[in-house]
Order: sequence, then C-alpha cells, then structure tokens
Amino acid sequence: MLQTAPLPQGAAETPNAKPTRIRFDPSTGFQQDLKERVDRYFEETGLRPRGSAALYRKAVVMLVWLAASYATLVLVPMPWWGALLAGVSLAFALAAVGFNVQHDGGHKAFSDNPALNKLAAASLDLIGGSSYIWNYKHNTLHHTYANITGHDDDIDLGMLGRLSPHQRHLWFHRFQHIYLWFLYGFLTFKWLLVTDFVRAMSGRINEHRFPRPKGWDLALFVAGKTLLVALAFVIPALYHPLPIVVAFFIGVSFLESLIISVVFQMAHTVEEADFPMPEGMPPERIHNEWMIHQIETTVDFARHSRLLSWYIGGLNFQVEHHLFPRIAHIHYPALARIVEETCREHGVRYTAHTSLWNSLRSHYRWLHEMGRPPVAA
Ligand SMILES: [Zn+2]
Repeated sequence: MLQTAPLPQGAAETPNAKPTRIRFDPSTGFQQDLKERVDRYFEETGLRPRGSAALYRKAVVMLVWLAASYATLVLVPMPWWGALLAGVSLAFALAAVGFNVQHDGGHKAFSDNPALNKLAAASLDLIGGSSYIWNYKHNTLHHTYANITGHDDDIDLGMLGRLSPHQRHLWFHRFQHIYLWFLYGFLTFKWLLVTDFVRAMSGRINEHRFPRPKGWDLALFVAGKTLLVALAFVIPALYHPLPIVVAFFIGVSFLESLIISVVFQMAHTVEEADFPMPEGMPPERIHNEWMIHQIETTVDFARHSRLLSWYIGGLNFQVEHHLFPRIAHIHYPALARIVEETCREHGVRYTAHTSLWNSLRSHYRWLHEMGRPPVAA
C-alpha cells in the first residue's frame, strides 16, 4: 500500500482545497522509530513542543526591534548615514519577525492555543505579506512536495533561473550564478505587490488550486495590504519627501528579500540536495517514504552557530523543521542530534554544511551547474 503525503495543517482544514496529490512509498519503520525517539525526548526533558516562555520572549524582542527600527527611521531626524543604519536594522528586523514569529505561527508551532498561532501567523500581514496565501504556498506546496519540480513553488523562479535539473534550460542561465544574487533582492517586493494579488484573485499557485480568500480571510488580506501602503508610504511621506520614502522602501525590501532568499536557498538548492521526480500516471508516485524524501531534499547548515540559529529562527535546521514543522524552532538543535543518529542507524543520508560560508559556496556551485546546458553538464 502506498502512503499519501500527509497534507500539512492548512490544507487539511480547508475542504475546498484541491492540491494535486503525490503518493509516497510506505514507511519502512524509520518514521515510527524517529517519532518514538522524539516523543521520548519531550517526555524525559518535560519540555513542551510548543508554547514556552522562551519562545514568547523571543517574539517580543523581535517585534520590539521591528517597531523601534521603524519608528527611528521614520520619526527621528538624523543624518543620511544614521538613516541608512536604521534602514538596515529595519530590514534585518522584518526578516527576523518572519523567521521567528510568523513562521512558527503559520506552522501552528508557536503555541498550543490556536488563536495565538493565528496571531503570530498574522504578523506576516503586519509586514505586508499575506498569511492566507503563505499557508498554501509554504505549508501545502513547499512542505509536502519539497524540491519536486512543478509542485514546490519555492524552487520555481519562472524563466529567470534554473534551480532544478528538471527545469527548462535557457541560454542566459549560464550567468545565473552571478545575476540571481541580485534578483533575490526583489523577492518580497514581488510577493507583496504582485503575486499575492494575482494568487488571491485567481485561486491558483501554478497548477495548484486553492480557495480564494473570503470573509475574515479576505478582510485580513485587504487590511494587511492597506497597512503596507500606510506604513511604507503614507506615514513616512508625512515626514520625508516621497522620492526618499520610495527609495528607502526599495532598499529595505531588497535587503530583507536577500536575507530571506539566502536562508531558503541554503536549505534546498545546494549540491547535496536531491530533486526527485514523481513517476507514473496520476496520482504520480515518489519512490521514497515521505520523511526520507524530506531529509534527502534538505540540508542543514551552520548548526553550531548559536547567533545565526537564534536570528533565523532555527531555519539552519531545515531537516528537523521539515520533519517536525509543528514543533517550535527552539527545540531543533536537540532534535538534530536525534535525527542524525536515527538516520545513521537506518542508513539514511543526512547532510549538513558546517558553516554558512560552505553552504553559500555550495549554492553558488549549484547555480553554476544548473546554468550549464544539460548536454554539456
Ligand atoms: Zn516552514
């Protein structure tokens, strides 16, 4: 009997969602063994998988950092270099809220209280995105179908880049290891101002359909976008010339995008990650069990850097995040030891780069490799 990918939380709750299902091989016992070990860890330590004081404290720190950076940039008169520093701080804080508050909330890993999870997830609407669209793009498509070309929207850059060996090669991709770093800076810009609207109106992310936002979801979507216009343009324009306001919006958004893109690319588009393709007639099949598929398509990095782990909300432990998205990120370093040991015992390949630099180099080489014409490669 084949195993259907466990549809992540968001999709399961939405009766109208019609994602294309891919079937995975049944578990060989690895999944059960790993889950038992992780359950035992929480029993023995007495820790809670979600909702700890440490997690809430961290969320408050990130939100205060964000508010202070914004208020300083907009309200405090200062020389140009002071404004630049405040802008950089704002970009890092925006990404930090995404990594540490919104991401856990969106995965229902922030708290055991559903309202608190929803509130944390809605911090994305506070910073211009849409928690509703994100739920389908990230929870449903990326987490279920990691690195499966045509299904995982996160590896789809359209014609601009080729991240998977199964995507079409175009002549200019041979320069992508250079120009993509620049284009990564426009990711959030595109999400906030273009793709969120296109997707909300069409109810589609590529070939995957999802219900268009209605009722409270639609109200939150509209409120978020209105807030974005107010916070990014209207309020700053009361204090500064509009061209300066627009320049800062582009600059802050560029840096924020670059940070988010780099963190994502390190986890999935490096030389060591697999890009398997489903086979057969619909429903197509991946000849691997779901958990091992997640491990082989994902790579950890810089696991010993406490500062980086703190700042990016444990997303350098992406293997653990993909296996246990409903466990709060502060537990990932401990889970990594369990996952790595279990993989070793079951003969499953587990990969981690020792530093962010090594990971960046691997991504660069992967872009270079994917940019070469397939025959030459
Ligand atoms: Zn995630």
